[in-house]
Amino acid sequence: MNIEPADYVIIGAGASGAVVANRLSADPAVRVVLLEAGPRADGFWNRMPSGGLTRMNKPDADWMYKTEPDPSLGGREMVWNAGRMLGGGSAINGMVYIRGDRRDYDQWAGELGCTGWSWNEVLPYFLKSENWQGAPSQTHGSHGPLAVAEARMQHPLAETFIDACEQFGLRRVPDYCAGDVDGAFRNLTTQDNGTRASTARAFLDEAEKRPNLQVVTGALADRVVIENGCATGVVALVGGERVKIAARREVVVSGGTLHSPAILMRSGIGPAQELAKHGIDLVRDLPEVGQNLHEHISFSQSFEVDVPTWNNLFGKVSLAREMLKYVFARRGLMTMIPVEAMAYLRTRPELDFPDVKLSLGLMMFDPVKSGPSDKPGMVVFQNVAKPKSRGEVRLRSADPEDKPVIAPQLVGHPDDLAAMIAGARMVREIFAQPALAKHVVRQVMPDPIPQTDEELTESIKTRSGIGFHPVATCRMGGDEASVVDPRLRVRGIEGLRVIDASIMPIMPAANTNAPSIMVGEKGAAMILEDARVLLKPAPASPVHR
Ligand SMILES: Cc1cc2nc3c(=O)[nH]c(=O)nc-3n(C[C@H](O)[C@H](O)[C@H](O)COP(=O)(O)OP(=O)(O)OC[C@H]3O[C@@H](n4cnc5c(N)ncnc54)[C@H](O)[C@@H]3O)c2cc1C
Repeated sequence: MNIEPADYVIIGAGASGAVVANRLSADPAVRVVLLEAGPRADGFWNRMPSGGLTRMNKPDADWMYKTEPDPSLGGREMVWNAGRMLGGGSAINGMVYIRGDRRDYDQWAGELGCTGWSWNEVLPYFLKSENWQGAPSQTHGSHGPLAVAEARMQHPLAETFIDACEQFGLRRVPDYCAGDVDGAFRNLTTQDNGTRASTARAFLDEAEKRPNLQVVTGALADRVVIENGCATGVVALVGGERVKIAARREVVVSGGTLHSPAILMRSGIGPAQELAKHGIDLVRDLPEVGQNLHEHISFSQSFEVDVPTWNNLFGKVSLAREMLKYVFARRGLMTMIPVEAMAYLRTRPELDFPDVKLSLGLMMFDPVKSGPSDKPGMVVFQNVAKPKSRGEVRLRSADPEDKPVIAPQLVGHPDDLAAMIAGARMVREIFAQPALAKHVVRQVMPDPIPQTDEELTESIKTRSGIGFHPVATCRMGGDEASVVDPRLRVRGIEGLRVIDASIMPIMPAANTNAPSIMVGEKGAAMILEDARVLLKPAPASPVHR
């Protein structure tokens, strides 16, 4: 296959890469090539909100990375899911829309040296991407491509949960998109009139009609070609063929937190020793490529309640009725979001910022049946809001078809484990508040219910899963050790940027889809600004008469 040279070649069409492709190709004078390893994502199941979730654990749509044994979880190995199709994670995710807190980004810009990334500086990019479906609001943008809406299926117990949080002593947050998430609130969702607003839908559907944007699916990028310290193209496997695509201006790596560091390493950029192990010629020794991996550990507790929840809609007849509702009205169970309310807790009163994040779902799972329980229930997932535990991504080999080695430490830091133990107790206290207690029949999971610190530790280590929010393996920073500088340029290489969740220096206390889209917006804007400076016509020479 021959792919014509482009001005920009982007690797990965996920939450960030799709945005970059859209923004750069808005200029008809430049040619953009977007390479995506996975397939297209435009069928019925991709558009139906719950349908996207069913693509998880399907190898054609999900990378399903198998991790190394996690020493912090007693050596447990896990599957880490990551979207593998146009839209990346946004095509299979839980559709929670959350930006994080003002203090997250002010920490990036201040203490972490990421000049230009304070809350006030990133907010315009959240607004730019957004197509808010609600009443006009100063906090939301309404001219962007990404639909953000209130959930169509809203269960009254989500409100009851917030009441219980208030009784427990948390604030009700009036507008959690305004940079303050400290308390409890109902969350918004990335849905467009009842369909999933993945970045493939929002940023590529229309943009793909532009003649200057070529989207190539089934294109697994092997490495970036670097000549004399400058990125000049990408080598990819397309339909089993090795193809080189020349980049006249820049190469953008947007393969996501688990893949972007592997692409850099295969290109000779990374820890010298690691590259030598795989016989890769060193181009630039950047020891932090693949380091700093952090992810939300996720521990759940579920409670049977005395009123119907979404569990009651999973019978054959009701499912058929709900499907019809979706087909004809884009409403009902198929538009359900797995998280309807969120809350932030301090497990120690002296903390400046909450250390535990809760996500409430109105459907509980039956582990024996491996599906929705027959009883009505609620589930609370808890994460350490900003984990201190760190793992790493390494290469398995120099072969692009070998998935990278993922060596996580989900609760490797004692503060994270302590927060999880205290947080688990606080969840029970919230469910014991009068507003909720009157509906709770019993706690169902974990079974048996852990009581002591030792039992909770054991339960957290054996039962926790992932939060699906890995970040930071190509950390941005103001310091020379960081992988990318605050303009997302790979240190020491010309014409090469990383633009995705991997550049986040520290996890925002939030889910990471909207933050990754913001990174895509801001990264694209910086590319355009830098191109304007570089390509500015030389000042006209003075005319002498
Ligand atoms: C199951 C799940 C549920 C989630 N739920 C939520 C949620 O409800 N709310 C929220 O805010 N966040 C959620 N997230 C997280 C969010 O979706 C991610 O943070 C976001 O998608 C990260 O964006 P990204 O661009 O960094 O990477 P991705 O979106 O993962 O995109 C990377 C893309 O690059 C492609 N790629 C990788 N390597 C190569 C290569 N070598 N060559 C070519 N292409 C390549 C991948 O196939 C993928 O399409 C969830 C994630 C998952 C997996």
